[in-house]
Amino acid sequence: MATPTLLERGRSTAVETMTAAVVRDFEQPLAVEEVLRPVPAEGQVLVRIEAAGLCHTDIHAAHGDWPVRPIPPFTPGHEGVGIVTELGPGVTEVAVGDRVAIPWLGYACGTCEHCVGGWETLCLEQKNTGYSIDGGFAEYVAAYARYVVRVPLGIDPLDAAPLTCAGVTTYKAVKVAGTKPSDLVAVFGVGGLGHLAIQYAVVAGGTVVAVDLFDEKLELAHELGATHTVNARRADPIEAIQALGGADQAIALAVSPASFEQAYRSLRRGGTLVFVALPKENHVELPIFETVLNGITVVGSIVGTRNDLREVFELHAQGRTRVIRETRPLADVNEAIADVEAGRVAARIVFTP
Ligand SMILES: [Zn+2]
Ligand SMILES: [Zn+2]
Repeated sequence: MATPTLLERGRSTAVETMTAAVVRDFEQPLAVEEVLRPVPAEGQVLVRIEAAGLCHTDIHAAHGDWPVRPIPPFTPGHEGVGIVTELGPGVTEVAVGDRVAIPWLGYACGTCEHCVGGWETLCLEQKNTGYSIDGGFAEYVAAYARYVVRVPLGIDPLDAAPLTCAGVTTYKAVKVAGTKPSDLVAVFGVGGLGHLAIQYAVVAGGTVVAVDLFDEKLELAHELGATHTVNARRADPIEAIQALGGADQAIALAVSPASFEQAYRSLRRGGTLVFVALPKENHVELPIFETVLNGITVVGSIVGTRNDLREVFELHAQGRTRVIRETRPLADVNEAIADVEAGRVAARIVFTP
Protein backbone atom coordinates (compact mmCIF):
# COMPACT_ATOMS: atom_id res chain seq x y z
CA MET A 1 0.00 0.00 0.00
CA ALA A 2 1.18 3.49 -0.80
CA THR A 3 2.07 5.80 2.06
CA PRO A 4 -0.90 8.06 2.76
CA THR A 5 -0.44 11.56 1.37
CA LEU A 6 -0.35 14.50 3.75
CA LEU A 7 -3.92 15.22 2.75
CA GLU A 8 -5.15 11.77 3.65
CA ARG A 9 -3.29 11.85 6.93
CA GLY A 10 -4.81 15.26 7.65
CA ARG A 11 -8.26 13.88 7.06
CA SER A 12 -7.75 10.86 9.27
CA THR A 13 -6.86 13.03 12.28
CA ALA A 14 -10.22 14.76 12.44
CA VAL A 15 -10.00 15.58 16.13
CA GLU A 16 -7.54 18.42 15.71
CA THR A 17 -8.48 21.66 17.38
CA MET A 18 -8.23 25.33 16.45
CA THR A 19 -8.82 28.71 18.00
CA ALA A 20 -12.11 30.44 17.24
CA ALA A 21 -14.07 33.43 18.57
CA VAL A 22 -17.43 31.95 19.49
CA VAL A 23 -20.76 33.54 20.42
CA ARG A 24 -22.13 31.45 23.28
CA ASP A 25 -24.60 33.97 24.67
CA PHE A 26 -26.00 37.24 23.20
CA GLU A 27 -25.42 39.00 26.53
CA GLN A 28 -21.77 37.94 26.86
CA PRO A 29 -18.57 38.87 25.02
CA LEU A 30 -17.29 36.40 22.44
CA ALA A 31 -15.30 33.49 23.86
CA VAL A 32 -11.90 33.04 22.24
CA GLU A 33 -11.38 29.33 22.78
CA GLU A 34 -10.16 26.01 21.43
CA VAL A 35 -12.80 24.20 19.40
CA LEU A 36 -12.76 21.23 17.05
CA ARG A 37 -11.34 21.95 13.64
CA PRO A 38 -14.13 21.32 11.10
CA VAL A 39 -13.88 18.46 8.62
CA PRO A 40 -15.04 19.39 5.10
CA ALA A 41 -18.24 17.54 4.14
CA GLU A 42 -19.29 16.71 0.60
CA GLY A 43 -18.91 19.76 -1.61
CA GLN A 44 -16.93 21.67 1.03
CA VAL A 45 -13.35 22.79 1.33
CA LEU A 46 -11.28 23.46 4.42
CA VAL A 47 -9.79 26.95 4.36
CA ARG A 48 -6.93 28.10 6.59
CA ILE A 49 -7.88 31.68 7.38
CA GLU A 50 -5.29 34.41 6.77
CA ALA A 51 -7.54 37.42 7.34
CA ALA A 52 -11.12 38.06 8.44
CA GLY A 53 -12.79 41.47 8.47
CA LEU A 54 -15.11 42.69 11.19
CA CYS A 55 -18.45 43.81 9.74
CA HIS A 56 -21.25 45.53 11.66
CA THR A 57 -23.35 42.46 10.86
CA ASP A 58 -21.03 40.37 13.03
CA ILE A 59 -21.75 42.70 15.93
CA HIS A 60 -25.51 42.47 15.35
CA ALA A 61 -25.14 38.69 15.13
CA ALA A 62 -23.18 38.55 18.39
CA HIS A 63 -25.88 40.63 20.14
CA GLY A 64 -28.84 38.82 18.50
CA ASP A 65 -30.15 42.21 17.34
CA TRP A 66 -32.18 41.23 14.28
CA PRO A 67 -35.61 39.66 13.76
CA VAL A 68 -34.01 36.41 12.53
CA ARG A 69 -31.46 35.44 15.19
CA PRO A 70 -28.55 33.04 14.79
CA ILE A 71 -28.47 30.11 17.21
CA PRO A 72 -25.51 30.03 19.66
CA PRO A 73 -22.92 28.66 19.78
CA PHE A 74 -21.68 30.00 16.44
CA THR A 75 -18.58 31.66 15.01
CA PRO A 76 -19.20 35.01 13.25
CA GLY A 77 -17.22 36.39 10.31
CA HIS A 78 -18.22 36.64 6.64
CA GLU A 79 -15.09 38.34 5.33
CA GLY A 80 -12.79 35.36 5.75
CA VAL A 81 -9.97 34.93 3.25
CA GLY A 82 -7.49 32.09 3.26
CA ILE A 83 -5.88 29.14 1.57
CA VAL A 84 -7.68 25.91 0.69
CA THR A 85 -5.88 23.13 2.56
CA GLU A 86 -8.22 20.21 2.04
CA LEU A 87 -11.06 19.17 -0.29
CA GLY A 88 -14.18 17.35 0.83
CA PRO A 89 -15.65 14.64 -1.42
CA GLY A 90 -16.84 15.75 -4.86
CA VAL A 91 -15.14 19.15 -4.98
CA THR A 92 -14.05 20.25 -8.45
CA GLU A 93 -14.41 24.04 -8.29
CA VAL A 94 -11.21 24.90 -6.42
CA ALA A 95 -7.90 23.21 -5.67
CA VAL A 96 -5.69 22.86 -2.62
CA GLY A 97 -3.48 25.96 -2.43
CA ASP A 98 -6.04 28.36 -3.95
CA ARG A 99 -6.69 31.58 -2.07
CA VAL A 100 -10.43 32.07 -1.64
CA ALA A 101 -12.88 34.45 -0.02
CA ILE A 102 -15.79 33.10 2.04
CA PRO A 103 -18.64 35.59 1.75
CA TRP A 104 -21.96 36.05 3.54
CA LEU A 105 -23.70 33.93 0.88
CA GLY A 106 -22.17 30.68 2.10
CA TYR A 107 -24.55 28.45 0.19
CA ALA A 108 -27.56 28.73 -2.12
CA CYS A 109 -29.65 26.05 -3.82
CA GLY A 110 -28.49 26.84 -7.35
CA THR A 111 -31.80 25.87 -8.96
CA CYS A 112 -34.60 28.18 -7.74
CA GLU A 113 -35.81 31.12 -9.83
CA HIS A 114 -33.58 33.54 -7.90
CA CYS A 115 -30.44 31.43 -8.26
CA VAL A 116 -31.07 30.78 -11.94
CA GLY A 117 -32.09 34.40 -12.56
CA GLY A 118 -28.82 35.87 -11.32
CA TRP A 119 -30.15 36.78 -7.87
CA GLU A 120 -28.69 33.97 -5.79
CA THR A 121 -28.55 36.43 -2.89
CA LEU A 122 -32.37 36.12 -2.68
CA CYS A 123 -32.39 32.30 -2.54
CA LEU A 124 -34.70 31.04 0.22
CA GLU A 125 -32.44 28.05 0.85
CA GLN A 126 -29.36 30.17 1.45
CA LYS A 127 -26.99 29.66 4.36
CA ASN A 128 -25.11 32.63 5.69
CA THR A 129 -21.51 32.49 6.77
CA GLY A 130 -20.92 33.56 10.34
CA TYR A 131 -24.66 33.47 11.01
CA SER A 132 -26.32 30.16 10.15
CA ILE A 133 -22.99 28.43 9.46
CA ASP A 134 -19.66 29.03 11.22
CA GLY A 135 -17.59 31.86 9.83
CA GLY A 136 -14.15 33.36 9.57
CA PHE A 137 -13.33 34.30 13.16
CA ALA A 138 -11.34 31.10 13.42
CA GLU A 139 -8.17 29.46 12.19
CA TYR A 140 -10.12 27.22 9.80
CA VAL A 141 -13.50 27.32 8.08
CA ALA A 142 -15.34 24.58 6.20
CA ALA A 143 -16.92 26.36 3.22
CA TYR A 144 -19.04 25.28 0.25
CA ALA A 145 -16.67 25.13 -2.72
CA ARG A 146 -19.26 26.52 -5.13
CA TYR A 147 -19.79 29.65 -3.07
CA VAL A 148 -16.23 30.65 -2.30
CA VAL A 149 -14.70 33.13 -4.72
CA ARG A 150 -11.08 32.88 -5.84
CA VAL A 151 -8.93 35.84 -4.86
CA PRO A 152 -6.74 36.84 -7.82
CA LEU A 153 -2.97 36.77 -7.40
CA GLY A 154 -1.56 40.12 -6.40
CA ILE A 155 -4.39 41.06 -4.03
CA ASP A 156 -3.27 41.26 -0.41
CA PRO A 157 -5.49 38.96 1.67
CA LEU A 158 -5.80 41.80 4.19
CA ASP A 159 -7.43 43.88 1.43
CA ALA A 160 -9.45 40.96 0.07
CA ALA A 161 -11.15 40.45 3.46
CA PRO A 162 -13.03 43.79 3.60
CA LEU A 163 -13.82 43.53 -0.11
CA THR A 164 -15.63 40.25 0.58
CA CYS A 165 -18.53 42.00 2.33
CA ALA A 166 -17.99 45.77 2.58
CA GLY A 167 -16.71 45.84 -1.00
CA VAL A 168 -19.26 43.64 -2.70
CA THR A 169 -22.16 45.11 -0.71
CA THR A 170 -21.42 48.69 -1.70
CA TYR A 171 -20.46 47.76 -5.25
CA LYS A 172 -23.85 46.08 -5.63
CA ALA A 173 -25.60 49.06 -3.99
CA VAL A 174 -24.09 51.39 -6.58
CA LYS A 175 -25.17 48.98 -9.33
CA VAL A 176 -28.69 48.80 -7.90
CA ALA A 177 -28.73 52.62 -7.58
CA GLY A 178 -28.00 52.83 -11.30
CA THR A 179 -25.37 55.56 -10.97
CA LYS A 180 -24.43 57.20 -14.28
CA PRO A 181 -21.82 59.84 -15.08
CA SER A 182 -23.25 63.27 -14.13
CA ASP A 183 -25.22 61.80 -11.20
CA LEU A 184 -24.82 63.16 -7.69
CA VAL A 185 -24.50 60.30 -5.22
CA ALA A 186 -25.00 60.91 -1.50
CA VAL A 187 -23.22 58.38 0.70
CA PHE A 188 -24.58 58.41 4.26
CA GLY A 189 -21.99 56.87 6.61
CA VAL A 190 -18.27 56.73 5.84
CA GLY A 191 -17.07 53.61 7.63
CA GLY A 192 -16.10 50.16 6.49
CA LEU A 193 -18.83 50.25 3.83
CA GLY A 194 -18.96 53.94 3.06
CA HIS A 195 -15.29 54.35 2.22
CA LEU A 196 -15.73 51.74 -0.51
CA ALA A 197 -19.16 53.01 -1.65
CA ILE A 198 -17.56 56.39 -2.40
CA GLN A 199 -14.97 54.74 -4.62
CA TYR A 200 -17.47 52.60 -6.55
CA ALA A 201 -19.71 55.64 -7.12
CA VAL A 202 -16.66 57.46 -8.50
CA VAL A 203 -15.75 54.45 -10.67
CA ALA A 204 -19.33 54.58 -12.03
CA GLY A 205 -18.75 58.22 -12.96
CA GLY A 206 -20.77 59.87 -10.20
CA THR A 207 -19.98 62.95 -8.14
CA VAL A 208 -20.05 62.06 -4.45
CA VAL A 209 -21.26 63.91 -1.39
CA ALA A 210 -20.35 62.06 1.82
CA VAL A 211 -22.18 62.51 5.12
CA ASP A 212 -20.85 61.46 8.52
CA LEU A 213 -20.59 62.66 12.12
CA PHE A 214 -16.79 62.55 12.36
CA ASP A 215 -14.39 64.96 10.63
CA GLU A 216 -11.64 62.32 10.30
CA LYS A 217 -14.00 60.14 8.31
CA LEU A 218 -14.98 63.05 6.09
CA GLU A 219 -11.31 63.80 5.43
CA LEU A 220 -10.90 60.17 4.41
CA ALA A 221 -13.97 60.53 2.15
CA HIS A 222 -12.27 63.47 0.40
CA GLU A 223 -9.09 61.47 -0.08
CA LEU A 224 -11.06 58.65 -1.65
CA GLY A 225 -12.83 60.87 -4.16
CA ALA A 226 -15.80 62.57 -2.49
CA THR A 227 -16.18 66.08 -3.91
CA HIS A 228 -18.42 67.35 -1.10
CA THR A 229 -18.71 66.39 2.56
CA VAL A 230 -21.25 67.24 5.27
CA ASN A 231 -20.72 66.82 8.99
CA ALA A 232 -24.27 66.04 10.12
CA ARG A 233 -23.47 67.22 13.67
CA ARG A 234 -22.84 70.74 12.43
CA ALA A 235 -24.88 71.10 9.26
CA ASP A 236 -28.20 69.79 8.00
CA PRO A 237 -27.31 67.25 5.29
CA ILE A 238 -30.73 67.66 3.65
CA GLU A 239 -30.20 71.40 3.14
CA ALA A 240 -26.58 70.96 2.12
CA ILE A 241 -27.38 68.30 -0.50
CA GLN A 242 -30.50 70.08 -1.79
CA ALA A 243 -28.29 73.15 -2.25
CA LEU A 244 -26.23 71.02 -4.65
CA GLY A 245 -29.41 70.22 -6.61
CA GLY A 246 -30.41 67.11 -4.65
CA ALA A 247 -28.95 63.62 -4.94
CA ASP A 248 -29.82 61.38 -7.87
CA GLN A 249 -29.07 58.46 -5.58
CA ALA A 250 -28.60 58.22 -1.83
CA ILE A 251 -27.02 55.16 -0.26
CA ALA A 252 -27.96 54.58 3.39
CA LEU A 253 -25.05 52.92 5.16
CA ALA A 254 -25.32 54.29 8.71
CA VAL A 255 -27.08 52.13 11.29
CA SER A 256 -29.54 54.87 12.24
CA PRO A 257 -33.10 55.21 10.94
CA ALA A 258 -32.81 59.01 11.23
CA SER A 259 -29.99 58.92 8.73
CA PHE A 260 -32.16 56.91 6.31
CA GLU A 261 -34.83 59.63 6.58
CA GLN A 262 -32.24 62.32 5.91
CA ALA A 263 -31.01 60.34 2.92
CA TYR A 264 -34.57 60.19 1.59
CA ARG A 265 -35.06 63.94 1.93
CA SER A 266 -31.75 64.70 0.27
CA LEU A 267 -32.98 63.20 -3.04
CA ARG A 268 -33.96 65.20 -6.09
CA ARG A 269 -37.10 64.34 -8.06
CA GLY A 270 -36.83 60.93 -9.68
CA GLY A 271 -34.12 59.94 -7.22
CA THR A 272 -33.38 56.55 -5.74
CA LEU A 273 -32.76 55.68 -2.10
CA VAL A 274 -30.86 52.44 -1.51
CA PHE A 275 -31.28 50.76 1.88
CA VAL A 276 -28.13 48.88 2.85
CA ALA A 277 -27.40 49.25 6.57
CA LEU A 278 -29.54 47.23 8.98
CA PRO A 279 -30.18 49.28 12.12
CA LYS A 280 -31.42 47.47 15.20
CA GLU A 281 -34.47 49.78 15.15
CA ASN A 282 -36.18 48.25 12.15
CA HIS A 283 -38.39 51.13 10.96
CA VAL A 284 -38.21 54.41 9.11
CA GLU A 285 -40.94 56.94 8.39
CA LEU A 286 -41.22 57.94 4.76
CA PRO A 287 -43.98 60.15 3.33
CA ILE A 288 -46.26 58.59 0.73
CA PHE A 289 -47.30 61.87 -0.91
CA GLU A 290 -43.76 63.05 -1.74
CA THR A 291 -42.70 59.56 -2.81
CA VAL A 292 -45.52 59.46 -5.35
CA LEU A 293 -45.30 63.03 -6.60
CA ASN A 294 -41.52 63.08 -6.80
CA GLY A 295 -41.30 59.62 -8.39
CA ILE A 296 -38.93 58.34 -5.75
CA THR A 297 -37.61 54.78 -5.82
CA VAL A 298 -36.75 53.05 -2.54
CA VAL A 299 -34.85 49.80 -2.97
CA GLY A 300 -33.12 47.33 -0.67
CA SER A 301 -29.76 45.89 -1.62
CA ILE A 302 -28.34 42.81 0.09
CA VAL A 303 -24.63 41.93 -0.35
CA GLY A 304 -23.81 40.80 -3.91
CA THR A 305 -23.43 37.67 -6.00
CA ARG A 306 -20.28 35.69 -6.71
CA ASN A 307 -20.01 37.54 -10.00
CA ASP A 308 -20.25 40.88 -8.23
CA LEU A 309 -17.43 39.82 -5.92
CA ARG A 310 -15.30 38.73 -8.88
CA GLU A 311 -15.79 42.19 -10.38
CA VAL A 312 -14.86 43.80 -7.06
CA PHE A 313 -11.61 41.84 -6.98
CA GLU A 314 -10.95 42.75 -10.63
CA LEU A 315 -11.31 46.47 -9.90
CA HIS A 316 -9.00 46.15 -6.93
CA ALA A 317 -6.40 44.19 -8.91
CA GLN A 318 -6.48 47.05 -11.44
CA GLY A 319 -5.60 49.47 -8.65
CA ARG A 320 -8.91 51.32 -8.90
CA THR A 321 -9.92 50.92 -5.25
CA ARG A 322 -8.17 51.35 -1.91
CA VAL A 323 -9.05 49.43 1.23
CA ILE A 324 -8.60 51.33 4.46
CA ARG A 325 -8.08 48.84 7.28
CA GLU A 326 -6.12 48.07 10.40
CA THR A 327 -5.12 44.60 11.52
CA ARG A 328 -5.60 43.15 14.98
CA PRO A 329 -5.17 39.68 16.45
CA LEU A 330 -8.37 37.66 16.66
CA ALA A 331 -7.82 37.40 20.42
CA ASP A 332 -8.73 41.12 20.65
CA VAL A 333 -12.15 40.60 19.06
CA ASN A 334 -14.15 42.05 21.95
CA GLU A 335 -12.10 45.27 22.17
CA ALA A 336 -12.41 45.61 18.41
CA ILE A 337 -16.20 45.35 18.63
CA ALA A 338 -16.25 48.00 21.37
CA ASP A 339 -14.12 50.31 19.21
CA VAL A 340 -16.41 49.91 16.19
CA GLU A 341 -19.49 50.55 18.33
CA ALA A 342 -17.90 53.73 19.70
CA GLY A 343 -17.01 54.95 16.19
CA ARG A 344 -13.28 54.83 17.02
CA VAL A 345 -12.32 52.92 13.85
CA ALA A 346 -11.58 54.78 10.61
CA ALA A 347 -12.88 52.07 8.29
CA ARG A 348 -12.34 48.34 8.72
CA ILE A 349 -10.69 46.08 11.29
CA VAL A 350 -9.19 42.89 9.88
CA PHE A 351 -8.34 40.02 12.23
CA THR A 352 -5.43 37.70 11.76
CA PRO A 353 -5.66 34.37 13.57
ZN1 LIG B 1 -20.93 42.31 6.24
ZN1 LIG C 1 -31.83 29.18 -4.80
